[in-house]
Amino acid sequence: MSTRAVIALGANLDDPEARVRAAFDEVGALPSTRPVARSALYRTAPVGFVDQPAFVNACLLVETALGPRRLLDELLAIERLHGRVRDIPNGPRTLDLDIVLYGDTSLHEPGLTIPHPRAHERAFVLAPLLDVWPDAIIPGRGAAASFRDAVRGQAIERLRDTP
Ligand code: ADP
Ligand code: MG
Repeated sequence: MSTRAVIALGANLDDPEARVRAAFDEVGALPSTRPVARSALYRTAPVGFVDQPAFVNACLLVETALGPRRLLDELLAIERLHGRVRDIPNGPRTLDLDIVLYGDTSLHEPGLTIPHPRAHERAFVLAPLLDVWPDAIIPGRGAAASFRDAVRGQAIERLRDTP
């Protein structure tokens, strides 16, 4: 049985656009996982720790038979392949891979919260999420599209459509 899951990709170091493109391929090639749709790439100003380069953000829709915990472990392994180091919270990163949605699952356990708790309030997650899944429902919150107006003030630039 497979589940639709949305992965948010983000990078702001070492050729972030190339990293996000590589990550599309790498996440799509995970075992028991099929890529369904890639969003456009977006350039966004950093949030929180602002003295750092702009981010490239995107979302990938997959169908996967991996459970949420196994999927997270695989994503963290891909981050490590890209030399991700965790030092400053919200700081610069070569690659960040977050599970935004996993079917209609709501899950809150140590180290894993689904849906991603900030997805609905961040334009850089919401915009690419709506590219790949316009009708997405954020469990416990409602239609993803209904949050679009709330994030309209956040600076985000559509870089280009991904082929
Ligand atoms: P953030 O993505 O919030 O900027 P990190 O990428 O450093 O922060 O992630 C820190 C931890 O967040 C990860 O080790 C992971 O265990 C946890 N985490 C909780 N929920 C999720 C989720 N839905 N997707 C990815 N990581 C998550
Ligand atoms: Mg993360």
